[in-house]
Amino acid sequence: MAKINDNYLKLKAGYLFPEIGRRVRAFAAANPDAKIIRLGIGDVTQPLTPTILKAFHDAVDDLAKANTFMGYGPEQGYDFLIEAIIEKSYRPLGVELKNTEMFISDGSKCDCANILDIFALDNTVAIADPVYPVYNDTNVMIGRTGDADEKGYYKGLVYMPCTEENGFFPAYPREKVDMIYLCFPNNPTGTVATKEQLKGWVDYALANDSIILFDAAYEAFITDPTIPHSIYEVEGAKKCAIEFRSFSKTAGFTGVRCGVVVVPEELEGTTSTGEKYSFNKLWLRRQTTKFNGASYPVQKAAAAVYTDQGWKETKENIDYYMENARIIREGLSAAGLTVYGGVNGPYIWLKTPNGLTSWDFFDKLLNECNVVGTPGSGFGPSGEGYFRLSAFGNRDNVIEAVERIKKNLK
Ligand SMILES: *Cc1c(COP(=O)(O)O)cnc(C)c1O
Repeated sequence: MAKINDNYLKLKAGYLFPEIGRRVRAFAAANPDAKIIRLGIGDVTQPLTPTILKAFHDAVDDLAKANTFMGYGPEQGYDFLIEAIIEKSYRPLGVELKNTEMFISDGSKCDCANILDIFALDNTVAIADPVYPVYNDTNVMIGRTGDADEKGYYKGLVYMPCTEENGFFPAYPREKVDMIYLCFPNNPTGTVATKEQLKGWVDYALANDSIILFDAAYEAFITDPTIPHSIYEVEGAKKCAIEFRSFSKTAGFTGVRCGVVVVPEELEGTTSTGEKYSFNKLWLRRQTTKFNGASYPVQKAAAAVYTDQGWKETKENIDYYMENARIIREGLSAAGLTVYGGVNGPYIWLKTPNGLTSWDFFDKLLNECNVVGTPGSGFGPSGEGYFRLSAFGNRDNVIEAVERIKKNLK
């Protein structure tokens, strides 16, 4: 009989969101009149903007005529999109990238997972705690870890606790690590990295020959002009960092699917015999072999994000979510809660009151306010005692949720 990849059996079977669903269904069944407001999941709610939608439609129409039909495109993405990203999103930051350093994809989750293909299994990996679970679980699946301990830490991974004490910003690992995942603005804590802080990590990576896997999925939500949007704003980062970006949260593409990975040509690792080798070449080989490109209409829609009108509309949606974030943050502070994030990212990370566990607070919020959020402990052991609210809801729901919390939790 064929053997399975039993690394998968080490995973804690998808616990967080199914458990949230189970508790919400049970509550709804017992309280059929309750109007439940969901501020839990990290999915957007605003539709595609008119300019993006038109580009999407027009590109579908292209497929209807023989003379404009598009079949397989370049695996790395069309130049029209790559050039739009370089010119409109990176050049204004003072970051110069080549077309050959950009790889368009069907989203960042897959990219963050697939990138592991081009790294040796015996590299040591550092991840934050709490963390976007994809980084952790994909390393388990590929076989880089042992089993999880009773706290939930997998043997073989290096965890960097992000707590109130360190401002939810990871400290450099004490042991030498080869790969480091960083995500700013952060999901789930909403923390951002200043240029100085990012420079610290770049210098650390250069000094230790490590590679930073930088997830910038929320860069468009930064409001403070001094906060970097890309790790390449720091000198030397092209020698030590891969950057992931996504249209999902920026432009409402969670169901459309488009992302981009930047793998600079200067970025090198070593072969098992000690020679230097380009990660860019490896990733190109990986993508051309295992991926056949994001769809043409999707890439046309993504390129429309960077037109003047497309960006104006996109920015309006981002501002709408960030106004939600402000309402949640200020409302919860007024209710006496300690809140973090929500200024340069769409997540509010709150400290549970009176030392409640994350799940106790989940139940309290559900029962007393009929509001659903995400228990911080679901993102890692150091998330215990915290709770994540998302700013991606619609305005009326956000206002009502905050009012209920103010009234009931005082
Ligand atoms: C939502 C999210 C992404 C983007 O995922 P897609 O696959 O592009 O939809 C990437 N990283 C983090 C941390 C996220 O929260």
